[in-house]
Amino acid sequence: MDDAAPSSLRRLPSVDRLLRHPDLVAAVQQHGRSEATLAIRETLAELRETLKPGTSTEETDIAASVLSRLDARADTCMKPLFNLTGTVLHTNLGRAILAEEAVEAATAAMRHAVSLEFDLDGGKRGERDDHIRALVCELTGAEDATLVNNNAAAVLLVLNTLSQGREAIVSRGELIEIGGAFRMPEIMARAGAHLREVGTTNRTHPRDYANALQPATGLILKVHTSNYRIEGFTAEVGARDLAKIARQHNVPLVNDLGSGTLVDLSRFGLSKEPTVREAVEEGADLVTFSGDKLLGGPQAGFIVGRKDLIGAINRNPMKRALRVDKMRLAACEATLKLYRDPDRLAERLPTMRLLARSVEDIRQQAVRLAPVLAEVLGDTVAVETVPCRSQIGSGALPLDTIGSFGLALKPKGGGRALEELSTAFRHLPRPVIGRVAEGALIFDLRCLDHESLFHENLSSLRSGVAS
Ligand SMILES: *Cc1c(COP(=O)(O)O)cnc(C)c1O
Repeated sequence: MDDAAPSSLRRLPSVDRLLRHPDLVAAVQQHGRSEATLAIRETLAELRETLKPGTSTEETDIAASVLSRLDARADTCMKPLFNLTGTVLHTNLGRAILAEEAVEAATAAMRHAVSLEFDLDGGKRGERDDHIRALVCELTGAEDATLVNNNAAAVLLVLNTLSQGREAIVSRGELIEIGGAFRMPEIMARAGAHLREVGTTNRTHPRDYANALQPATGLILKVHTSNYRIEGFTAEVGARDLAKIARQHNVPLVNDLGSGTLVDLSRFGLSKEPTVREAVEEGADLVTFSGDKLLGGPQAGFIVGRKDLIGAINRNPMKRALRVDKMRLAACEATLKLYRDPDRLAERLPTMRLLARSVEDIRQQAVRLAPVLAEVLGDTVAVETVPCRSQIGSGALPLDTIGSFGLALKPKGGGRALEELSTAFRHLPRPVIGRVAEGALIFDLRCLDHESLFHENLSSLRSGVAS
């Protein structure tokens, strides 16, 4: 090292020297030599690029940069956060929060060998669906059931099994797109099914289906228009009538419910969403629905219905590519078991608990939290309690909102102040995600379960925005 050469790259310490630096010894131990070496190399490379007169090449400063780089690399990327968006089942925020029973079951399955495909009675090979089949059938009235990765996989697998190289009949009013890549016509193409559109966007009649039926028909598909509604001069053929037409022509009727729920939501003060049991009763040969929407479990796709059709699905080699692992299967079983006691569902299943929370309960929480936030944020931000409306999300009851309460944070400075405020909350140790509306950052408190954790978290904000 030639300390005399001004602002020269040669003044930077070597990797080896830094690895032995007293400030880094503990970090090298903790993260390992190769991780530490990588962080040092990256730090030095960045210094070389940005080296300007005046940039510190003090070893302690470089060691500090290395430490913060190591911390940043070790930080969890997918973070637990506060979902105060007002959308209870937010797809980008991981949809349903699982019940404690499901968390425990999944953890046990991770820690131990389990009877995943093992029949403990006979001592022979079993099937992974055995763990949920009886339970799902009991809760839905279906004859048989199977479980795959998600509802998109369920639809893909059903279409491929029943209508590969054949026609799948769908109403033009039900050709849905659910977020980016899930578009019914495209899924059909990938499944090898030929889409046969019938009717018009707003009106489809029984004769439209009947006229389209022919020997090459593989199935009739009914899709729950979960994220939009067609209103005005409309007509659709109900599942019951469609089931009759399908039966007359000996073609299976598949009903993609999307969210699908196992209980009547009106008991929680929500509007009615078709239950899986009703869809089965209406005569669908197969019904598909999600595990992590209203059901409140892990990501999964359920296919329930006729035994012979479920059998054909299970023999499809694609099933293997779409199956679920032991953790999710365990969580599904535990979640489904909670439905045996519908009276306690709102206590035990977070999705139901959050959806069923009373406005008064949420309002009281807003009143408690407003002064706390006002104190933390100081004079620069006005904090008000405001009524607002939550959504279920994930396409369930798209037009229905639920009365709720929240906090409106309005920065007094103009310009980018609102954006900076949102950013500060997003960068808390446990990020807080709200929504921006009418010049304010709104925190809908419906999903704020851990109030004390929320409090603790705010102390990091004090140093962040108030400065
Ligand atoms: C949500 C939804 C899907 C996709 O389900 P995922 O579980 O997200 O894969 C398919 N069809 C309908 C009608 C839906 O609402």
